[in-house]
Amino acid sequence: MNTSLKTTYEGVQLPTVGLVGNFINGEWCKPIGGKTLAVINPSRLDTIADVGAADKRDIDAAVAAAKAAFPKWRRKAARERGALLIEFGNRITANAEEIAKILAAETGNALRTQSRPEVASTAEVLRYYGGVIAEQKGETLPLGPGLFSYTTREPLGVVGAIIPWNSPLVLAAVKIGMSLGTGNTLVLKPAEDAPLAVIRIAELAADLFPAGVFNVVTGEGLEAGAPLTAHPDVAKISFTGSHEVGQKVAHAVADRIGHLTLELGGKSPCIVYADAGTDAMLDTTVSNIIAAMRFARQGQSCTAGSRLFLHASIWDKVMSRLVAKVNALKVGDALDETTDIGAVINAERYAAVCGFIKEAMDSGAKVETGKLPPEVADAKGYFPTPVIFTGVDNTWRIAREEVFGPVLVAISWTDEKEVLEMANDTHYGLAAYIFTSDIGAAMRATEQLDAGWIQVNRAGGQIPGMSYGGAKQSGIGSEYSIEGALESYTHRKSVTFGV
Ligand code: NAD
Repeated sequence: MNTSLKTTYEGVQLPTVGLVGNFINGEWCKPIGGKTLAVINPSRLDTIADVGAADKRDIDAAVAAAKAAFPKWRRKAARERGALLIEFGNRITANAEEIAKILAAETGNALRTQSRPEVASTAEVLRYYGGVIAEQKGETLPLGPGLFSYTTREPLGVVGAIIPWNSPLVLAAVKIGMSLGTGNTLVLKPAEDAPLAVIRIAELAADLFPAGVFNVVTGEGLEAGAPLTAHPDVAKISFTGSHEVGQKVAHAVADRIGHLTLELGGKSPCIVYADAGTDAMLDTTVSNIIAAMRFARQGQSCTAGSRLFLHASIWDKVMSRLVAKVNALKVGDALDETTDIGAVINAERYAAVCGFIKEAMDSGAKVETGKLPPEVADAKGYFPTPVIFTGVDNTWRIAREEVFGPVLVAISWTDEKEVLEMANDTHYGLAAYIFTSDIGAAMRATEQLDAGWIQVNRAGGQIPGMSYGGAKQSGIGSEYSIEGALESYTHRKSVTFGV
């Protein structure tokens, strides 16, 4: 097997043990078929390392290990499971810088602006679930003399979790915290483009959980992901990824009446009211628009506020400040401390982003930012130039489909009713952003927008404890909170005693 056993990459400490394959039943083991996958650095186009490429046989082994470990793990006191999650979070914090560098190298997400904060959030999410999971409480029913009924929250069994490459570490932490905390066992499949940071944290946890409780299997979607979703011994699938794959996963799970959480894509509106463009607010508003668009993550975020609805009365001054600030962002190597925007994940995504841009240009859209990404990626990496389009109608494909690149579409508005209708005119419903200091306007908009998460005068990331999940076709179920964990990763058992 052609496994790279490099221990460092460009001065970055790599995972060592995990590179040889999968973490199953407390052991690192080579994939049965002996295949490997090259993990490419999208900012340099060289191979960071090769990892195991699992197939159905490895998935079967991981699920069998998780199934065998379930009966004992589920009986452990919730606070003891929680203590292990807290320790896991602490180990990540202790190794944060090394993990952040691996993450930046494999995802192309800039170290300073993205990857370090993601590692911090990863540890925080694990500690949050570690602390709160003892609240896995049931209810009692006062039924009168001689009758007593209560409920308990029971784990489902083996959870299969499948995650994308854009925020691989924090998404892994959410799935780990929710499933292990509630007493399930887990088989986690990271994305083929970015499995290394997840492998590294699995190494940190290798001696923490009893064998079989936490398993990681690396591989491609069809070979490793699909057999996990179809496995009869997997009680629940928790999937984060694209709408297209989400549909396939939903079919596979429905065929065996499994439990399912889907966290899918978005085309989120960012509505800027006239009062957010006053001289006092201008800089804050422009920074918020840039943050909402997730330009610093190359726009590769499910919550990207990629449709900007800007009030006509402030259009000129907001747009000129926005364009100047976006043009000043430095695009470059994700490991470079001065980089604001890193690289798009791979050649396929780069071509897809360029395709969206070309189609919008051909339809007459105007590029406010002045430059376009080269149609053929730079030989050094998949570097995207951020683009702001105007002259676009809300019905165009660029305004309706998830580009998953640093492309913002700006549309002007004057009538609140119309802008809220335009904002809702999409089959997605993940996030929304509102910028105004008019509390009445904010109330009307939050009431009427169809979105799982609305931020008013803020454009940050998810907060542990806050339920997060999509409305409409952006998903099913919610994550990040104890309520999400209980609703989605447990079932209620009712017990009735007659005396
Ligand atoms: P993707 O759907 O292509 O892949 C996601 C995962 O699914 C990968 O691990 C992949 O190997 C696996 N997969 C692929 N085919 C499969 C199959 N047939 N069966 C089972 N698994 C399969 O998504 P991506 O391109 O990696 O990620 C980008 C997408 O993820 C975007 O649409 C984005 O909006 C979404 N996303 C959503 C959230 C959220 O919380 N809602 C968060 C991050 C990303």
